[in-house]
Amino acid sequence: MKIHKSSASLQKALLPFLEDCKSIGFVPTMGALHKGHISLVEQACQENECVVVSIFVNPTQFNNSNDLDKYPRTLEGDVALLKKVSGNIFVFFPNAAELYKENIVSKKYNFEGIENEMEGKHRAGHFDGVGTVLDLLFRTVKPNRAYFGEKDFQQLQIVKKLVEIEKLPVEIIGSPIIRENSGLAMSSRNKRLNKQELEEAALIYKTLSEVKGKFKTSTISELNKMVETEFISNSLLELEYFEIAAVNTLKTASTKNKNTSYRAFIAAFIGGVRLIDNIALN
Ligand code: AMP
Repeated sequence: MKIHKSSASLQKALLPFLEDCKSIGFVPTMGALHKGHISLVEQACQENECVVVSIFVNPTQFNNSNDLDKYPRTLEGDVALLKKVSGNIFVFFPNAAELYKENIVSKKYNFEGIENEMEGKHRAGHFDGVGTVLDLLFRTVKPNRAYFGEKDFQQLQIVKKLVEIEKLPVEIIGSPIIRENSGLAMSSRNKRLNKQELEEAALIYKTLSEVKGKFKTSTISELNKMVETEFISNSLLELEYFEIAAVNTLKTASTKNKNTSYRAFIAAFIGGVRLIDNIALN
């Protein structure tokens, strides 16, 4: 499996597929791959004639340099996992100067307000960085379809807006969250947790499941209180936010509207590591 470090090398390898009008699937990642990523790659391989997996820890989407420095980087292990997937897979592993053409800054985007909710509120400039890097990647890879996990649900909605704004001819496909047996959403950041932290972090999904179970019969304010109490009584986990939001706007909901779909979202710290998760409520 060849690892393409430059756009020119990747594009040369993809040329025969473009010329024969064969479909290109694309799975953008930051590496430290796990079964969540691999499920996206498998789906992409089933639905396309070739698949590009990019591995790039994008500096412009991090507002915390410590988080960027400590982000796990495991290229060899990543390639070993990808080799086990059957399909025509190309790995794209650019460095920042190559991808950004020496201009490593974010464009400013207006994603109709979605960028100002939840992750956007707590990670200033995050979605400008996400939009900028995906725009660059989409223009390099020219995929027919690109695959994103619902684990980063807000990001998935942002990407749908991005391709509208930039008029990019790519279909955006969202895929379900892959979890550990404990329910903990798989994440590259889980690699930074010790055994006890991994066990305790399961509270995030346990709480989201409880919220889902009680959503029909409880008010949103009751659910907010319940979640706060659960987290206060855990000494390792620190809740950054819990929100119930309408799926389309991602605006915080304080009351329930009959014809609206809602999801519940959590961001929490454990051992200095920030984890996020979400669940569909209705
Ligand atoms: P990342 O490497 O964290 O940027 O993630 C790359 C892609 O994998 C994104 O579309 C994520 O939403 C997706 N992803 C990460 N973790 C999971 C998971 N546990 N289940 C499904 N998709 C995931």
